[in-house]
Amino acid sequence: MPTIRPLPPDVVSKIAAGEVVERPASVVKELVENAIDAGASAVVVELVEGGRDLVRVVDDGVGIPAAELAAAVAPHATSKLRTADDLFAMRTFGFRGEALNSIAGVSEFTLQSKPFGQEAGARIDVDHGHIGEVRACGCPVGTVVEARHLFASVPARRKFLKNKQTEAGHVVEVMTRLALAYPAVGLKLIHNCRTVQERPPGLDRAETVRLFFGDAVADALIPIHEERDGYAVSGVVADPRVDRPTSRWQYLFCNTRYIRDRSLGHAVTEAYRGLILQGRYPVTFLFLDVPPDAVDVNAHPTKIEVRFAEPGRLYSLLLASLRGKFLKTDLVAKLQAKQAGQPPTTSAPADDLGFDADLPPWATAAAESTDTEPTPAAPTLAAPAPSFNDDHRRAAVDRDFALSRAPNSQRNRLWDEPIPAPSFTPVEVTVPAPTVTPTTPTPTAPTVTRSLQLHNSYLVVETPEGMLLVDQHALHERILYEQLRQRATAGRLEVQELLVPEPVELAPEEVGTMLEHRSLLEELGVRVDEFGSRCVLVHSYPALLRKLPTADLVRGLAAHLADHGRAPNRDAMLDEILSMMACKAAVKAGDHLTREEIDALVAQRHLVADSHHCPHGRPTILQFTLQDLERQFRRT
Ligand code: ADP
Ligand code: MG
Repeated sequence: MPTIRPLPPDVVSKIAAGEVVERPASVVKELVENAIDAGASAVVVELVEGGRDLVRVVDDGVGIPAAELAAAVAPHATSKLRTADDLFAMRTFGFRGEALNSIAGVSEFTLQSKPFGQEAGARIDVDHGHIGEVRACGCPVGTVVEARHLFASVPARRKFLKNKQTEAGHVVEVMTRLALAYPAVGLKLIHNCRTVQERPPGLDRAETVRLFFGDAVADALIPIHEERDGYAVSGVVADPRVDRPTSRWQYLFCNTRYIRDRSLGHAVTEAYRGLILQGRYPVTFLFLDVPPDAVDVNAHPTKIEVRFAEPGRLYSLLLASLRGKFLKTDLVAKLQAKQAGQPPTTSAPADDLGFDADLPPWATAAAESTDTEPTPAAPTLAAPAPSFNDDHRRAAVDRDFALSRAPNSQRNRLWDEPIPAPSFTPVEVTVPAPTVTPTTPTPTAPTVTRSLQLHNSYLVVETPEGMLLVDQHALHERILYEQLRQRATAGRLEVQELLVPEPVELAPEEVGTMLEHRSLLEELGVRVDEFGSRCVLVHSYPALLRKLPTADLVRGLAAHLADHGRAPNRDAMLDEILSMMACKAAVKAGDHLTREEIDALVAQRHLVADSHHCPHGRPTILQFTLQDLERQFRRT
């Protein structure tokens, strides 16, 4: 029998380090967060060989008194948390008191600091966990932390480090998140002696976005601000024209921390539903302000995931703020440059610490150091404080900064690496095919004069401006979706009670899923009861869907719930079910429509706020203006 023994302390600390320190980027994240917690107004990060050889973080914050240096590198030592209650009311980044100890356990580590008003500074060295003496030294006010040869003593971890470009790319991403979260702090990243990224203090979010993400994104930003019950969401989001093939351009912060949240990510997707093609993703920079006691940031060692006390409330606030804004914004004018038919792409999965499996091209390119450049010797500790007021440094900063804001051709490599090509191709006048643009939803319905069904699939509609070509399924689906959604959220969904409940046969696991979601389904007008192991009894369904045979609706719901029953929360689930019901109940391509049906469908298109895309994001209506037609026939 193996006996149970406590782990030796150095093993314990290596396990703890593994939770916090994964790669140079995680070291940078922890150290810069400490600097910001210490009130720094400027932080300079220097890397050698992607941080594999050296990560140095220099700040001009409050510093650490010599007497506390040893405590700072001790395990579970922090100045930021006194009682367990503080855990749930944290405003600063830190509180686990583990970062310095963890980093010092897996590197050649030096902490040097001088608090404001002190004569001299002091430093402490830690060699892979072996703590040295505190010694006096001369240094500027603030703190310098160095970690050299990360994981040199833990080969099993060191071999997981990637090449210098990739590691530096991850650092660029971390710095980008911090820059977005902290507009007041100047941030600079130097890799192998070259400045690769810099955000001077005082640039606001939109300006920071322009600096890091380029003009295409910055010119498309829509400001968001909404407050409700002590919760607030603000930030900037790009209009749907600027979509991307992955969700990597969706930044979310909670009380200034970058976070990942599946449910809130879903709310963003939901808000853009119908405005963006399936498989494409919006670009968003969103900041949540949540009462500190309504969020547990301690749920994950790197705090990338948090736990909300009222996740549903935040979901609705986020969804409502974006949808509300989109309805009020004239997206159509901007959408006109967009053409259909972008191939969908999937996003790469993110790993545990929230680093993307592969980085945005600009991040790696930015961090790359040219091969002709000699590898610099690791600079020594005599690093000047990162004062942006120091004249000499200021000149360098300004020149770099000016370069970074210069037109593309003059920018350094971070800025001139093209942001992934915009997903739309502007409509060309020279294209021989008719130039089509999504229709403009007009607040007042223009009088429809004539309409016609073609190939049992399309409707041609004459309008005062020209003509519309309508995808009958897409439009009907969109209308049903909006009607169902509006009525369901207002609690006014009309329900059709069945005189005789109808049994519908299902697979046994589908019966289970239907019953599990019984209350949710009831909100949507679908009331079901258990009726043996392979059958449910249907008592009612939404009156709007009366054309759809009950069994079809219920089987569709059961199959959908069994496949996708893991939506992150109730609201997300409701939306999914609504769009599934709308799709099932809508007329199909190939369905012949009567005169009345055609007229009803065409008349109702104005009920739909954005009728130009179906819930899957495909175009619903193509508009040909008289001008388009005249141009095509060379009449002008
Ligand atoms: P935590 O940040 O969770 O408190 P750390 O191990 O990151 O734990 O840091 C330990 C302590 O060292 C902090 O609580 C803080 O008092 C001090 N400290 C760390 N970095 C800095 C810095 N750059 N400037 C001033 N104090 C710092
Ligand atoms: Mg810390």
